Amino acid sequence: DAYLAAIDGANGALNAYVATTPDQARRMASASDERRASGTVGALEGIPLGVKDLFATDGVHTQAGSHILDGFKPRYESTVTANLWADGAVMLGKLNMDEFAMGSSNETSYYGPVVNPWRARGSNVDLVPGGSSGGSAAAVAAHLCAGATATDTGGSIRQPAAFTGTVGIKPTYGRCSRWGIAAFASSLDQAGPIARDVRDAAILLKSMASVDAKDTTSVDRPVPDYEAALGGSVKGMTIGIPAEYRMDGMPREIETLWQQGIAWLKDAGAEIKPISLPHTKYALPAYYIVAPAEASSNLARYDGVKYGLRVPGKDIVEMYENTRAEGFGAEVKRRVMIGTYVLSAGYYDAYYLRAQKVRTLIKRDFETVFGDGVDAILTPATPSAAFGIGDQDMAADPVKMYLNDIFTVTVNMAGLPGIAVPAGLDGQGLPLGLQLIGKPFDEETLFRTAHVIE
Ligand code: GLN
Repeated sequence: DAYLAAIDGANGALNAYVATTPDQARRMASASDERRASGTVGALEGIPLGVKDLFATDGVHTQAGSHILDGFKPRYESTVTANLWADGAVMLGKLNMDEFAMGSSNETSYYGPVVNPWRARGSNVDLVPGGSSGGSAAAVAAHLCAGATATDTGGSIRQPAAFTGTVGIKPTYGRCSRWGIAAFASSLDQAGPIARDVRDAAILLKSMASVDAKDTTSVDRPVPDYEAALGGSVKGMTIGIPAEYRMDGMPREIETLWQQGIAWLKDAGAEIKPISLPHTKYALPAYYIVAPAEASSNLARYDGVKYGLRVPGKDIVEMYENTRAEGFGAEVKRRVMIGTYVLSAGYYDAYYLRAQKVRTLIKRDFETVFGDGVDAILTPATPSAAFGIGDQDMAADPVKMYLNDIFTVTVNMAGLPGIAVPAGLDGQGLPLGLQLIGKPFDEETLFRTAHVIE
């Protein structure tokens, strides 16, 4: 009830929730009370969570931040949310996001931008919470839920976490089932939590992760007790510092934050090792070929026939065209056009196939350094702090917006786990985050190391 009241009070200003589910919340909470009375307590018993609108929730608003899914209420539940409810968690509602998870500022949502609960010192300018999981990050930061589900295809958990002073982890590809999560780029998409601290993120991921017969890319490996990893020392661990992440024109405060992170880990007994990931500079361009290519294919299903919006036309082709023209926003259309282009005959080899080869090289860069004894890699999470809603530069040039993902997309391209952890404030009092990148399925090391930084 306290969370529902907080949402009522603050959501008008923040626009973090696109739908609240008070009836479900109360029903789930009283079922939880009964379980507690009978002595069976799940790992998340009674914990109120928000759910990114990309996750299918049975009988509840599920529109992926899009107009094209108008009125869509699936008759099934995503595996990740089903896992959370099975452990006793309570659903508060659905969280705003960039349309189909395409964006870095939460400004592409059909439901309008989310407002970051943080503001620069002495300023009343509204800032973005990052994206695409902007609603999840803002809701956690503003205490409108105890934790939230999110997804990360190219940074969408870690960048909003960094912009809002929260913790976000993208686990290894395959750790969580993608079943029931609207697909953006299937070979990159992963679910993970956004939480107020590393411990909460560890507890939530433990519950979210599972192998699932309905997603054959989910991996059959035991899910460790991540919370148990937190107390452990980083003494003797080797932390890699990649030269290629020191970008030209990187703001001084990002460099300072990075050095501070290095110093903290050194003080805690870790060994710091300069490393090279030579193909880093190709990650962003390759990502912006692979992701739109997969998106153009995945989004073909939204045609006015099976789900949501239908805009009639004189025949079926015109109905498809009208529905997609009206139902999709500008960023989604841009991605579908880029994706269709790079997959088309004559361009497939030049763009898509080449990007896939680059992807292999990026993956090998990481395999080499991890093979050389590096336990985790420390980088900045974002190239800046949160920027203003409606930033003119970024609105005029989508590539500027895409540069927000510069430190985060490599992890998705390589399928690795990455965590963003709050590490300090910039000169204007805005949160900044550091990122730790780990070996496949070694989320434990990330939690343990992030816990030293937070
Ligand atoms: N900002 C990136 C994009 O727009 C990442 C999105 C994501 O991770 N879902 O594609």
